Amino acid sequence: MHHLGIHMSIAGGCFRAVERAAEAGYSCVQLFTKNNNRWQGKELTDEDVDLFKKTLAEREITHPIVHNAYLINLASPDDSLWGRSVDAMFIELVRADRLGIPYVITHPGSFTSSSEEAGISRIATALDELHERLEDRKVEVLLETTAGQGSNLGWRFEQLQAMIEQVKEPERVGICLDTCHVFAAGYPLAPKNAYDETMGTFDELLGIKRLKAFHLNDSKQPFGSRKDRHEGIGQGELGFEPFRLLLNDPRVSSIPMYLETPKGEENGEDLDRINLARLLDLIEKER
Ligand SMILES: [Zn+2]
Repeated sequence: MHHLGIHMSIAGGCFRAVERAAEAGYSCVQLFTKNNNRWQGKELTDEDVDLFKKTLAEREITHPIVHNAYLINLASPDDSLWGRSVDAMFIELVRADRLGIPYVITHPGSFTSSSEEAGISRIATALDELHERLEDRKVEVLLETTAGQGSNLGWRFEQLQAMIEQVKEPERVGICLDTCHVFAAGYPLAPKNAYDETMGTFDELLGIKRLKAFHLNDSKQPFGSRKDRHEGIGQGELGFEPFRLLLNDPRVSSIPMYLETPKGEENGEDLDRINLARLLDLIEKER
């Protein structure tokens, strides 16, 4: 059973992202629960929450997931920015929890003027603080694998491993694997033997059981470029093969997978629909 989802806009309300995913033919959705370029968000009302849950049920959309706002940097060496980031991340988690969403995806953070080691330890401290503030709320943080632009952490699996190892409650942290990012970070996803090696390394260092979500994106930038530019499925440097391998790998094929591919039209047809059709074409029918 595959769970294919897509990132959708919340213009008009959180429930609109659910409607948009359903209209494009997907069965899961990723959303921001507030403006992703602002610290503050409008308070969610009980009506917003009810409407969101009702729309999920009506449209048969499962595995809703949240991506946090871009301003948050849990690795910041600046105390005021770090504190603001932890506060904002806490609000993101509480908002998701209210909406009944189990995971909030975040890029681990950028160490900017400090060091890799210092950045990793800031992230672990931030996660400890969040776990404490969340008390027994079940909502969890998923650290996303990154492309490694600038001082972004989380592009090497070892960095994610170090973050999780330093956290007091590591069982409360999961991972979201982004295909564009890991490829740009220098982990090959095809052919089969290279894919197996990358997934083997991931399993060894982080554990496939920690993998709660995928971002399915092709890459405009070449292998190992450490640049984060998403492209439509099969239309970039990855091609179709990595997606075929993932969709037919029984270890991971039932983990929810969300597209963050460019929006628009191609020959008058909606790109979200085209990308979905391309993915469905890659799924090998069981005999
Ligand atoms: Zn992503």
